[in-house]
Amino acid sequence: MLVSLTSTTPVATDLGHLLHKHPDRVRSVDVGFGRAHVFYPEATPQRCTATTYVEVDPFGRTRHRQHRRAQGLEPYLNDRPYAASSMLSVALGRLFRTALNGTCEARPELVGQSLDLEVGLPVVPVRGGQQLLRRLFEPLGYDVDCSSIALDTEFPAWGDSRHVSARLAGRQTVRSALEHLYVLLPVLDDNKHYWIGPDEVDKLLSRGGDWLGSHPESDLIARRYLRLPDYTREALARLADTGEDSDLLDTQRDAAEQATEAPLRLGEQRLEAVLEVVRSVGAGSVLDLGCGEGRLLERLIVEPAVTRAVGVDVSVGALNRAEKRLRLENMSERRRERVQLLQGALTYTDSRLRGFDVATVVEAVEHLDPDRLDVFAEVVFGHVSASTVVLTTPNREYNQNFEQLDSRGLRHEDHRFEWTRAEFEAWAGGMAERFGYSVEISAVGPVDPVCGPPTQMAVFSR
Ligand code: SAH
Repeated sequence: MLVSLTSTTPVATDLGHLLHKHPDRVRSVDVGFGRAHVFYPEATPQRCTATTYVEVDPFGRTRHRQHRRAQGLEPYLNDRPYAASSMLSVALGRLFRTALNGTCEARPELVGQSLDLEVGLPVVPVRGGQQLLRRLFEPLGYDVDCSSIALDTEFPAWGDSRHVSARLAGRQTVRSALEHLYVLLPVLDDNKHYWIGPDEVDKLLSRGGDWLGSHPESDLIARRYLRLPDYTREALARLADTGEDSDLLDTQRDAAEQATEAPLRLGEQRLEAVLEVVRSVGAGSVLDLGCGEGRLLERLIVEPAVTRAVGVDVSVGALNRAEKRLRLENMSERRRERVQLLQGALTYTDSRLRGFDVATVVEAVEHLDPDRLDVFAEVVFGHVSASTVVLTTPNREYNQNFEQLDSRGLRHEDHRFEWTRAEFEAWAGGMAERFGYSVEISAVGPVDPVCGPPTQMAVFSR
């Protein structure tokens, strides 16, 4: 995928200073889903073009078995390598961070200077067609010249694709032009490839704070960029607050501060939700089935009420990592007695697994082959038989909001299945009835109005 930025204001090669990329060199960086390159096909005092080219790693996209299974050929045949999508926006953010922050050490006087700029987007996916492209860029001072791209020139009857070829021309600072692209490319595409977390609001405000508030399409931009209504409302409220320059500065400072504070990640939210259940039933002993590296155990052992926490996992490697994380060898004798790691399987009865107040199964059930689920249920509900069982698992419907490339390190690779909300509800309800529990299902993480939450949690009690 390509985007080019051309300056025709002499001395046009100043563009190199502004972008912090020398016109004589090619610069390349890794961007998680592939590599991004910047180079200058032309660099004269009259006209200078910096082209950003992103190569998407096709194996990165097809690595996940679950994804392949769920979506047929889509992981192999898609527009991502060619179309200027949210991935390009991420690449621009990575390559031109200094320029986006308005810094140019060599020539600080250039930063505020408006130049005659042209932006070339040979293939940009647009949900809403050329009209939308105009509605987004014209109010920002661009002349928009665009043409549609046929789905297949051999079959004209198939009509146009959702892709457009566009050229935008306007007098802009380089910083603004980059900000416009950074925010609006994902908005045009409306198919963000990555997980949308709370820090997205800050990102939007830090890149759009100067122009988004007065943009006639600010609602649509915030809605598509952030996708979740709560975030959209927050962003619009914060934008509305930025009537005066000092307010704007405050907002940007807040945004910067919040961005440095680690945003609450889904993994944390999940553990916190599980801990809440442990606390609410006043559990003294907890069995963590499929404990992995011991993230939950680490928190359980500092819970005042918990006097016994046992983690079980089939993987020796995971148990070794858990041992390190918990610093078992440096633990005082008294603490040491309260925590234990066992190698074992979720599909075998084992007398060491009995006699706990709460059993937890966090993001582990989807690692079992579906034909082992009945045995697993016999073990967890029949044999372990804790009075409370907490089980979390992904909600498959939510996946469309995720970065399909797994750049956040989510382990999809070993998932044998993922349930929709209805499938999970049906399974959990069936198990509750069979083993004499009542069950309550709740959401963990930001709830998408259509797809639901990223994680679903069932609490079985008896
Ligand atoms: N609960 C942890 C780990 C989740 S990853 C957390 O939330 O961080 C799933 C874990 O389940 C892995 O550590 C894997 O080794 C374990 N697992 C997969 N199949 C298993 C089985 N049949 N028996 C026991 N553990 C299993």
